[in-house]
Amino acid sequence: MEIILLIWILFGVAAMLVMQNKGRSGCGGFAMGFLLGPIGLVIALVLSADHRTMEKREMQSGSMRKCPQCAELIRPEARKCRFCGSEVPPIS
Ligand SMILES: [Zn+2]
Repeated sequence: MEIILLIWILFGVAAMLVMQNKGRSGCGGFAMGFLLGPIGLVIALVLSADHRTMEKREMQSGSMRKCPQCAELIRPEARKCRFCGSEVPPIS
């Protein structure tokens, strides 16, 4: 019996990690994986990533910044935007 519970918790943790990587709610992912088991994990894998949350996260961590011309995410040390080709001031 405990083994089954343990496996279900593992599904919850796996779904939580998948959801967090996609910029979605980790708690929701855990609940989904824990309640639905393998089905919850599959749903977490199939769900599309929340691009807006991921962009915000990358900008907060300083690994990316927004191009002032086209608003795509580019590297902070970039001098030229790789999306629109416009020159951007490098951040020191
Ligand atoms: Zn651009």
